[in-house]
Amino acid sequence: MSDFRPFAGERIAVVGLGKAGLPAAVRLAEWGAEVTCWDDREEGRLAAERAGFALRDPSAGPFTQDALLLSPGIPHLLPRPHPAAVRAREAGRPILCDVEYLFLAVRAAGSAARFVGITGTNGKSTTTALLHHLLLRAGRVSEVGGNLGPAALGLNMLGSEGTYTLEMSSYSLERIATVGFNVGVMLNLSPDHLDRHGSMAGYAAAKANVFARQGRDDVAVLGQDDELSTAMAGSVTARLVPISGLHAVPGGIWAEGSSLRDAAGEIADLREAPALPGSHNAQNAAAAAAAAFALGLDRGGIAAGLASFPGLPHRQERVGTLRGVSFVNDSKATNADSAARALASYDRVVWIAGGMAKEGGIESLAPLFPRIARAILIGRDAPALAATLAAHGVAHEVAGTLDAALPRAADAAFGGAAPIVLLSPACASFDQFSGFDARGDRFRALVQAMGATATGRA
Ligand code: ADP
Repeated sequence: MSDFRPFAGERIAVVGLGKAGLPAAVRLAEWGAEVTCWDDREEGRLAAERAGFALRDPSAGPFTQDALLLSPGIPHLLPRPHPAAVRAREAGRPILCDVEYLFLAVRAAGSAARFVGITGTNGKSTTTALLHHLLLRAGRVSEVGGNLGPAALGLNMLGSEGTYTLEMSSYSLERIATVGFNVGVMLNLSPDHLDRHGSMAGYAAAKANVFARQGRDDVAVLGQDDELSTAMAGSVTARLVPISGLHAVPGGIWAEGSSLRDAAGEIADLREAPALPGSHNAQNAAAAAAAAFALGLDRGGIAAGLASFPGLPHRQERVGTLRGVSFVNDSKATNADSAARALASYDRVVWIAGGMAKEGGIESLAPLFPRIARAILIGRDAPALAATLAAHGVAHEVAGTLDAALPRAADAAFGGAAPIVLLSPACASFDQFSGFDARGDRFRALVQAMGATATGRA
């Protein structure tokens, strides 16, 4: 048994045993806590039993443990708090998340490792992966996780030289009551997850928690490209670094066209950062650069890291080239808004789209339709998408499945329709796939099976 037991004797109920919950239970038990587990799904309960944990449903009676660690996916606030959260609150016990326990353990170990929390409606994963890449490339120690990659309590303990680069969902943030991030990043805010947070104000308040409890030596990186974000400056107590992907921001970091700049001049030319196309990625680059400066990286290191960033899979990922045509996997685009980012990045594409459409369909993409040489449609809502495209005079056909769509799209592109075949579905994938990643993996495999050569990023 290890002698590092910061939570010795603490009785913690872990509820929700998915990606975050189970590793949390294991780690907390290693650290001396008396852990009981619960999941409303049988699958989760079985996993906990296999790992040797006692099962106990905290919703069943008065809450008798010292604290409740609730998986980020489970709501604890109105309008729909989980009964376990209600019980814990009745008993006056704290409801915590895994990031808090990591923070408390690292500090209990005497480590001054820095914590970076990255949030926003869009771009969290990209910015998190990018900052981690910048740090590693500069020879720093960084553990990346949270919403992206391993959950917080699946990460290694770091000494004072290290940095935790954490993607924070609004769900985790709304629960945090102890952590003050050394660097907090808030990229942008648009309506999302309102079912969970009840209102835009509730959602914004959860996101603003990334700046709560910060000290004067800490840094708050705040996007300036939408009004809801700029309004958040009022909740910042740390040093504020404004960032923009669109326009100059005094005292901050911004992109003017492809030039990433601060008051001292150009930091990098983003044309040399092939994995970061578009003004949305310029915002992500500005945010990651601001955080990297706050952590002591220099301009040259940041520029080199931006250029060598390989990008994340399924986000405008260039998976191969064949006969002069590039194949781009943007399967993460599960709504029209995200697909708009990809369509806006290329002049002319053969577009593969479809699946389970979101409310409003693809009508909002109409200004980008001139970029579509031909659309090949898949999935349940292909007929609805076809109707919208027909109304706007866009050439299209219904292929049904991705396997059927790719050869048709490739033929159109080889025939000269466009130099890019873009999978950016603007729809959820669940009618035909287990998730956007399975859809993107299938696309990549099909492209490679055609004999395309692997390339870098789009
Ligand atoms: P998240 O982790 O917040 O879901 P990702 O980095 O995974 O965001 O990007 C998902 C999609 O969101 C991308 O494919 C792109 O279409 C869009 N996106 C990325 N960054 C931004 C941004 N800064 N602003 C708006 N949209 C963005």
